Amino acid sequence: MRVYKFGGSSVQDVERIKNVVSILDSVDEPIVVVVSAMGKTTNAIEQVIELAFAQKEDSAKEAWKTICQNHIDLSKDLDCEDHCHAHLEKYHSQGQSILDTYSRKDRDELYDQLISLGELMSSTILTGSMILADLKAVRVDAREMIKTDAQFRSANINWGATEDAVKEVINTVGDGVQYVVTQGFIGREPKGRTTTLGREGSDYTAAIISYCMDGESMSVWKDVPGVLTADPRLFPNATLLPRLSYRVAIEMTYYGAQVIHPKTIQPIQRKEIPLFVKSFLDPNSKGTEISKVGAALYPPMIVVTKDQYLLEF
Ligand code: ASP
Ligand code: MG
Repeated sequence: MRVYKFGGSSVQDVERIKNVVSILDSVDEPIVVVVSAMGKTTNAIEQVIELAFAQKEDSAKEAWKTICQNHIDLSKDLDCEDHCHAHLEKYHSQGQSILDTYSRKDRDELYDQLISLGELMSSTILTGSMILADLKAVRVDAREMIKTDAQFRSANINWGATEDAVKEVINTVGDGVQYVVTQGFIGREPKGRTTTLGREGSDYTAAIISYCMDGESMSVWKDVPGVLTADPRLFPNATLLPRLSYRVAIEMTYYGAQVIHPKTIQPIQRKEIPLFVKSFLDPNSKGTEISKVGAALYPPMIVVTKDQYLLEF
C-alpha cells in the first residue's frame, strides 16, 4: 500500500481536480489518498472565525455561506453534484451551527470544529470525481483514525490508539476498493471533539498513516518539481535535489524550508519508508526521493526565514 498526499493547490479548481483523478487512475495498486482543503479554503475559514470573534456574526455567516457555495459550484462543474450535494449541505449547516455557539466556546476549540470542514468538503468532492471516473474509491473520516489529545490547533497524536484505528479502518473498507480517500490535518480527541494538527499538517497525517500501515512509500504531490536547493520564487536558478537523506530533510525543514511539514519525516524514518516529493504538474518526472541513503554529496542549499531576530547571549 502507498500513501499519496495532495495539497490544497493540487485540488484548487476543476482542471486540477481532474488532473489528480488522472494521476490516481494511472496506478494499479492500493492507495490511501490524503487531501487538504482546496486552494486557500483554510485561510478563508480563518477569516470567518475572525469575523465571528469580532462579533460580526452576520458577516461571518455570509462568508461561510460563500465558501460552501463555492464548493457546491465546483461539484456541479465536475458533474459529481449527485454524490456530493447531501454531504456539502450537511457541512454547510454544521458550520452554521458552530458559528451559533461561538460565544460559548473556547476560541481554539471552535477554530478546529470549523476549519476541519475545509478538508471534509474537499475530500467529498475529490471522492465524487473519482467515483465519476469509475475509480473504486471510498471516503473515510480521518477522525475515526487519527486519535489525539485535546490540544486544539496543534494536537498531539496518541500513537497506540491511532495505529489500532488506522489499521482497523483501512483494512475493513471492503473488497474491491482500490482507493481510500481521507482528510489531512484533522483528528479527534477522547471526548469526540474534532482537533487539528497545525497549519499545513496534512503531510503529517500522510506520514502517520504510512507509519501505521507500514506503507511501501509515501508521495507528496506539489506544484514544484521536488525539493529544490532553494525557494524558486526567491532564487530562480534553484535546482532539483534528486535524493536526500532523512537527516538532511529534517535539517532543512527545521531551518524553515517549507517543502514538507517538519513533523513528517520522523515517523517514516522510523520505518524507513521512502518519501517522494513530486510535481502534480509533471507526474512522470522523478522528483525527489527522501530515504535512508540520500546523496553522496549535496550542493549548497539556502533556506530563507523572514522576520527573524537572532539573540545571542
Ligand atoms: N488545510 C490545512 C492548511 O492549509 C492543512 C494543509 O493544507 O496541510 O493549513
Ligand atoms: Mg496546504
